[in-house]
Amino acid sequence: MKTKIWNVDNRSEITYIYPQVEEAATELQHDEVVSFPTETVYGLGANAKSDKAVSKIFEAKGRPSDNPLIVHIASVEQLKEISSYQSEIVHKLIEAFWPGPLTLVLPKIEGAVSEKVTAGLSTVAVRMPDHPIALALIEAANLPLAAPSANLSGKPSPTTADHVMKDLNGRIAGIINGGATGVGLESTVLDCTEEVPVILRPGGVTKEQLEEVCGKVEIDQSLIVEGQSPKSPGMKYTHYAPKAPLFIVEGSLPYINTLVKEKQNEGKKVGVLTTSENAGNVEANVVLSCGTRADLTTVASQLYATLRSFDEYDIDIIYSEAFPSEGVGQAIMNRLLKAAGNQIISQ
Ligand code: AMP
Ligand code: MG
Repeated sequence: MKTKIWNVDNRSEITYIYPQVEEAATELQHDEVVSFPTETVYGLGANAKSDKAVSKIFEAKGRPSDNPLIVHIASVEQLKEISSYQSEIVHKLIEAFWPGPLTLVLPKIEGAVSEKVTAGLSTVAVRMPDHPIALALIEAANLPLAAPSANLSGKPSPTTADHVMKDLNGRIAGIINGGATGVGLESTVLDCTEEVPVILRPGGVTKEQLEEVCGKVEIDQSLIVEGQSPKSPGMKYTHYAPKAPLFIVEGSLPYINTLVKEKQNEGKKVGVLTTSENAGNVEANVVLSCGTRADLTTVASQLYATLRSFDEYDIDIIYSEAFPSEGVGQAIMNRLLKAAGNQIISQ
């Protein structure tokens, strides 16, 4: 299959539907899969109502079929066709965070979307992306879109159309290139089926922000306690991994340099994932900065691209700085730990 590229120059306000977006929407109506930018990462969309279309997402990504997908919508009317939610808290969350990087797990209306989307669960995960191209595409297709990140399963999520091309060229109908995404990490997944909402996956909206709107919010125990099985099926898989093994170092910069030296003495080439504050003082073969510690949203935004960049070098091992696990740091550490297969070195 030849993968088309539709270039849409930027993500400024869309006042009319671009012909490129119309073309992509037509592919979706014909049960094809199309990648599109959102404010978090690039998504891989398909008609959420069609078994055939949704199967193509799993095939293209090599994604395990027991990992359910998030349904992307452009209006609350669309949500009402999919979920029979009643809760006051859900209304407040929608009001405060949609469109935006918050996915709500809600009771589903049987038959509203393909069983393949929900992997047989009685709930459905839904979000309204805050990106004019994504919203225009959903509206033009006039369909709810099932859309995971547009990477091969296990790889870092794509934050540019080029990343999508590298992973999925020839496997999907097309990619809308709308430039680099903003947040850089996936949405927060919040289970709203119990009285107190539970974070199943930390992401673009922080626990602190959620609590300001709806009071108490819990975190799925599996994110804190080792050995607990996660409530969100997707959280059990290794993700985001660069080719070389990655270790997170909880320690000082001199300590990181000592670890690097040790490996170099064994003849290994070493990469270090660092920040702009420290980059000048790291002594390794490849030193890549993913943002500034003074503003962790910069790290969130560039983390995946930086992890992917390490694959371009011939290195044997990567050490990464650790980040404080609060605010957006919680999502950053969650993704880094997954990329590292939970390998941490403490000073
Ligand atoms: P991705 O599509 O790769 O961004 O991942 C979607 C995440 O949402 C995965 O961790 C899924 O397991 C999770 N998810 C999707 N639907 C549900 C659901 N109904 N209940 C719990 N988690 C879900
Ligand atoms: Mg993903």
